[in-house]
Amino acid sequence: MAYYKNSAYLTLNNHSAFDLTHHPGAKTSNSGIYRCDGCGHEIVSVSPHPLPPQNHHQHTQAQGHIRWRLVVATTH
Ligand SMILES: [Zn+2]
Repeated sequence: MAYYKNSAYLTLNNHSAFDLTHHPGAKTSNSGIYRCDGCGHEIVSVSPHPLPPQNHHQHTQAQGHIRWRLVVATTH
């Protein structure tokens, strides 16, 4: 879970970019904090660089494949 101290620096946004999951190594569409849906691991990725690859971290079989989801997007 990502933490923050001052909510004045974050704005709720219901953009569909937060609903998508991305494969490991996919191009980062929005710079920001991404979370793996399988295990909760969080990373920072910058557009247009690729998201971390499949071998970035290990999952149990129950956790399935790495799926990156945008949780906090930068605006600049
Ligand atoms: Zn994971």
